[in-house]
Amino acid sequence: MAQFNVGETKEYWGWLMDNPGGYVIDLGANGAGRLHKATCGTISEPNGNCNVNGKCCEETYPAIQQANHEGRQGCGICNPP
Ligand SMILES: [Zn+2]
Repeated sequence: MAQFNVGETKEYWGWLMDNPGGYVIDLGANGAGRLHKATCGTISEPNGNCNVNGKCCEETYPAIQQANHEGRQGCGICNPP
């Protein structure tokens, strides 16, 4: 698992480049957040960054499912499985 905190946008974008088939949880306050495919335009360069929210990243869907045990909803734009 890779986790990127607020202020680590450069490192986060590097992970997206290396893992185009991966999945990302856009973390919100108090355990909120949303699940995305790594290619989703809302969480990738240039619009998606780590200026406000951190990101939890996994290379595979089973791994992100495990990280998403709180059951955060999937993004309606990229429609992760
Ligand atoms: Zn998305």
